[in-house]
Amino acid sequence: MTDELTAQVCVVGGGPAGLTLAVELAKRAVSVVVLEQSGHFDRSFRGESVSPDSVWLLDRLGLLDRLEGGYQQMHRMEIMDAGRRVLRADFTRFPYPHPCPVELPQPALLSALAGMGEEHAEHFTLVRRATATGLLEEDGTVCGVRARTPHGEVRVRAALTVAADGRFSKVREMSRLPYTRVPLERDVVWLKLPFPAQWDARTYRIRIQGDQHGLFIPTHPDSVRVGFNIPKGGLKDLRAQGLPALYERLDRLAPELSGAVRSEIRSWSDTSMLDIFTTLVPRWHRPGLVLTGDAAHTLTPILGQGVNHAIIDAVTLAPLVQSAFRAGGTPAQLTRAAERFQHARETSVGKSRALQLRQERLFALHGAGALLRRALYRVVDHSQPLKQRVLAGAYFQLQKPGPHQAAAPRPASRV
Ligand SMILES: Cc1cc2nc3c(=O)[nH]c(=O)nc-3n(C[C@H](O)[C@H](O)[C@H](O)COP(=O)(O)OP(=O)(O)OC[C@H]3O[C@@H](n4cnc5c(N)ncnc54)[C@H](O)[C@@H]3O)c2cc1C
Repeated sequence: MTDELTAQVCVVGGGPAGLTLAVELAKRAVSVVVLEQSGHFDRSFRGESVSPDSVWLLDRLGLLDRLEGGYQQMHRMEIMDAGRRVLRADFTRFPYPHPCPVELPQPALLSALAGMGEEHAEHFTLVRRATATGLLEEDGTVCGVRARTPHGEVRVRAALTVAADGRFSKVREMSRLPYTRVPLERDVVWLKLPFPAQWDARTYRIRIQGDQHGLFIPTHPDSVRVGFNIPKGGLKDLRAQGLPALYERLDRLAPELSGAVRSEIRSWSDTSMLDIFTTLVPRWHRPGLVLTGDAAHTLTPILGQGVNHAIIDAVTLAPLVQSAFRAGGTPAQLTRAAERFQHARETSVGKSRALQLRQERLFALHGAGALLRRALYRVVDHSQPLKQRVLAGAYFQLQKPGPHQAAAPRPASRV
């Protein structure tokens, strides 16, 4: 039996982009159905670093208060190259209302968003374990979604369908909107270890040796996420060499973790691999449909930009959609809203992407190139305004300089 639901907007995907948008729409009395294929929000290794601009937005949306104690504010970033510290940034010195990124596990963020949506239940419906399998179309306009659930098929009829179904978006495929997937030259292997007692829990660490680098990200509440690069598609080779090869790779970057990696990482299933690519989608919409978040612009993990742009997308799109519905909600008005949304967002996404790609190229340098990289980091290290300018492409695109709140952070459970 097929169930039918009707709403003004159908969002496919209950990740940061989809749920933030759904909440922002429901608050504005726009009715929304979210289809989420998973039955829970339990995801590890996913989008835990949240940029200062998004922290600022989450604060304005009233979410930070709900997450009290559930996140960790980060104060510093330190880059060591060939065993020497070449760059240190102290976020608390940046003159913005929210100068610091936070480490916020996605399950906590998504649960808080879903809870907020339920407070607007007359306009907000979250259907879990519902996988979008097809688009409903009439005369070339998308008018909803077909989804598979454990109880049979569901059809959601909506004037606007939003693809918020992530980096491998099926809705983007089904929409036939053209896109290009640009692979980066290297992939990243992730693993999690207990947080080492001798490290400061508010510092991001980047360690570089030649063309190898590792990211060491304090992870709320008591562990560290470790990501290190391997050649594109190189996981098979690494695995063939066995776990000792992984241990030795990490030893070169962070000898302090030698004991922990050997006792905690006992099989390859304790690691996960991120195929790094970015996606370029020239047009984010077609009649009745708009793409947001990773579905519109997959980014790389550098400086944690995916969640940031997913949230900014949502708060940009919601008022445009609300206005379009207020004006009558015709396909032409909704298309105009989608055009304005893309126009408002693509430059900012492009800036973050360019910064990430520059950074990735720097990481990959070796030999004389590595000498140049170290010199460059040292130049930046000596100038606070330069640090601020470099980080602005990722961290400070929305906030205006003003009084900051780092001196009185919201409490985190571990200092
Ligand atoms: C290993 C890893 C580490 C990362 N670390 C960071 C980080 O530290 N900071 C950061 O900012 N970003 C990080 N990212 C990127 C970040 O996770 C994404 O950019 C962000 O989650 C994008 O949000 P989204 O809502 O667009 O997509 P997603 O978070 O991918 O959410 C998409 C949702 O759609 C659902 N879905 C998919 N297909 C369907 C379907 N057919 N029907 C119904 N539902 C569907 C999925 O279950 C999912 O819930 C990381 C990504 C990975 C993979």
